[in-house]
Amino acid sequence: MAWTNQRNKQLIERARRVIPGGMYGHQSTAILPDVFPQFFRRAEGARLWDADGNEYIDYMCAFGPNLLGYRHPPVEAAAMAQQQLGDTMTGPSEIMVELAEKFVSLVTHADWVIFCKNGTDATTMAMTTARAHTRKRKILVAVKAYHGAAPWCNPNVNGILPEERAHILHYEYNNPASLTEAFRSAGDDVAGVFASAFRHDVFEDQDLPTLEYAQSTRTLCDESGALLIVDDVRAGFRLARDCSWSKVGVQPDLSAWGKAIANGYALSALAGSEKARAAVQRTFVTASYWFQAIPMAAAIATLHEIENSDYLERTEKTGAMLRDGLARQSASYGFGLRQTGPVQMPMILFEDDADLRLGYCWVAEALTRGVYIHPWHNNFICAALTESDVERTLNATGEAFAALKKQRATLGPVEQLKARFASRGR
Ligand code: PMP
Repeated sequence: MAWTNQRNKQLIERARRVIPGGMYGHQSTAILPDVFPQFFRRAEGARLWDADGNEYIDYMCAFGPNLLGYRHPPVEAAAMAQQQLGDTMTGPSEIMVELAEKFVSLVTHADWVIFCKNGTDATTMAMTTARAHTRKRKILVAVKAYHGAAPWCNPNVNGILPEERAHILHYEYNNPASLTEAFRSAGDDVAGVFASAFRHDVFEDQDLPTLEYAQSTRTLCDESGALLIVDDVRAGFRLARDCSWSKVGVQPDLSAWGKAIANGYALSALAGSEKARAAVQRTFVTASYWFQAIPMAAAIATLHEIENSDYLERTEKTGAMLRDGLARQSASYGFGLRQTGPVQMPMILFEDDADLRLGYCWVAEALTRGVYIHPWHNNFICAALTESDVERTLNATGEAFAALKKQRATLGPVEQLKARFASRGR
């Protein structure tokens, strides 16, 4: 079937009348190449079908939740079985206890866990817990790091008062001197330090945390009494069967989780060590849907798979295959490609592409050939992706490089990309 986007265009027209801007947030119609579909019909394994029926090998994995493959049979079976019993009830299902036990047994630093819905719930609760624990105010956050869309951390400042982030201070990720300076400027008032699992900022090359940075963050927190919070919302269980910072041998006091923990069902979590238990108990945290049982049943099945399958090694293998193949192709077509971060969460950027015209053209050419790759956010590899999927992907990306080479001289700037994304600032 030839690629077409007629239905998608009609849906966008209709959406513009009843949904502000036609779409919002990171799905905004304005921030991806025009050919990228806004609406999808279904998903299975590593595949996605848009509203026009076009099939894609999907390297975004719903921005992270798809870890094992869409509609993973054991996860679906657990969710369906729970659906027969109840989901939103007056209180949680008894399986909440089983899930908490399983979560705490997997995550080394965790002695307790609170379940919620979105990553922002977990990161915001982490901030509150750190303040309740220390009775101090300042929260140190790495420049450009994303921790959610609440007023304290939203990258866009429209509608947000400076007072709402008055006690948020910034430091440079992977830079112990900068963190030390942030501690100094905060005086004796630091409640917590946020650290992403690794540096995975949009538009930028990715970077794993260095041992020196991770250890000095731990030390600075211990010396001041501040809590160390690892934001594992995006990377959780993609790098390790534990908190991502277990890879550098540093344990946080709190960790925020979401996305992959229920393989796409709406569930996130704040996990903490004994030290923070009394403080979190003094806070009031809840919401109408946090106790839903279906996502918890899905999470138990997902954690079972995490514990007992080679899902992680498979994503590393196919991720490495993709990275090698793209490196070969880009070199042979004369393009410099910067592929950074863990192979299972690859950021793919072109050299000499400040306005992303090369990246935009290349991902658009790949898209119409059945491969969904993001031009400026990290991508994700799910465990359902096979080696033959990667080969198929490379056929499409090879053609996309050839098409890009032909158009290179005539490409115009991507229309005010950064301006469109924005009104950003702090
Ligand atoms: N932290 C990180 C590292 C994230 O990537 C995200 C979401 N992309 C969040 C927090 C916020 O999660 P949510 O969108 O589920 O609120």
